[in-house]
Amino acid sequence: MIEPGATIGILGGGQLGRMTGFAARSLGYDVHVLDPDPNCPASAIASRVVAARFDDAGAAASLAERCAVVTLEIEQIGAAALRAVADRVPLRPGASAVYVIQDRIRQKEWLRDNAFPVGPFRAVASRDEAVAAFTSLGRCIFKSAHGGYDGRGQVRVDSESGAAAAWEALGAVPCLVEQFLDIEVEISMQVARRAAVGPNAPAPVVFPPALNFHTAGILDWSVLPAPVSSVIVRRATDVASGIATGLGIEGLLAVELFILRDGSLLVNELAPRPHNTFHATERACATSQFEQLVRAVCGLPLGSPDLLRPSAIANLLGDLWTDGAPDFAAALEVPSVRLHLYGKAAARPGRKMGHLSAVGASGDEALERVLSGRRALRP
Ligand code: ADP
Ligand code: MG
Repeated sequence: MIEPGATIGILGGGQLGRMTGFAARSLGYDVHVLDPDPNCPASAIASRVVAARFDDAGAAASLAERCAVVTLEIEQIGAAALRAVADRVPLRPGASAVYVIQDRIRQKEWLRDNAFPVGPFRAVASRDEAVAAFTSLGRCIFKSAHGGYDGRGQVRVDSESGAAAAWEALGAVPCLVEQFLDIEVEISMQVARRAAVGPNAPAPVVFPPALNFHTAGILDWSVLPAPVSSVIVRRATDVASGIATGLGIEGLLAVELFILRDGSLLVNELAPRPHNTFHATERACATSQFEQLVRAVCGLPLGSPDLLRPSAIANLLGDLWTDGAPDFAAALEVPSVRLHLYGKAAARPGRKMGHLSAVGASGDEALERVLSGRRALRP
């Protein structure tokens, strides 16, 4: 067990690292982060920022040297940097889980090979394979194997010439090509697992599912709990726990899922870290996802994921800053609305600057409150 008072290292200093850092501080831990930007969002709560690229093994070793455990808030960390950490201190989640997840092709193939439900897909590594993928899948989405997020690194394709163009547009790099699915709703699961103590595998602890709505590939809002049937909750819980156990996760594993119009439940993608769709756990659940991560990586007892009351979040993208600072006071007039800003200086369109959260008697009421708060930001 890593006792309060020790130092936790975080690879990545974005908003997820910042919010994990708040929770770690609250539990009495010190926090160091590694991020290319010395003024990254987590710098506000870190007592040390190692300013370096995510493939800098020397910098990763330097971070680890003064930490009792290292976790991460971004999965695009170079293999040598992960190894440099793992050679010195526990890296949680482990390097092998991160290795599987950080390449979209490897991740989907792992899910398929381990009998988890996924939609039809092809791995492509040439222009000819790109065209062939469209021929076999029909309408599809090209996703670059590395580095995409918030819908970036993706192109939707509905013709052979479009497939060739998508291949070029993404930079002629290896891509995962997925059939375009007939999605009814998107949900996600967040699972926590501690490091093993003794011979028994640790039991996964699963938060209630979140209901998610994306616009242009970016999360727009999210509600906890998702209003889905108990059958779906059970299936999604089993799938998420099974994946976390199969990957040997020590920390968090977020699982994005699609419910199709025909009722089937498919895994979209994985993230071995806190997830945007579980920010509402700070208000909705007995334990937030950030505190749960700290407990998991430090070997503390995991907290209860029980739902206390329905909650929602709405993301605040940089677009809201185009005509000057938003009217924060107006949003805070809405009952139960709270403002969460990430301390980012430059507001670019599509950049996540913060979110609003709210609670309500129902998920619908909580959602209505965050959305009306967000509308009030730009009268
Ligand atoms: P990111 O890493 O950017 O979140 P995702 O693979 O989750 O990438 O894709 C972003 C969004 O695009 C999804 O949340 C979903 O709305 C849509 N999307 C992704 N894959 C498919 C698919 N195969 N069919 C239909 N829509 C999809
Ligand atoms: Mg996603």
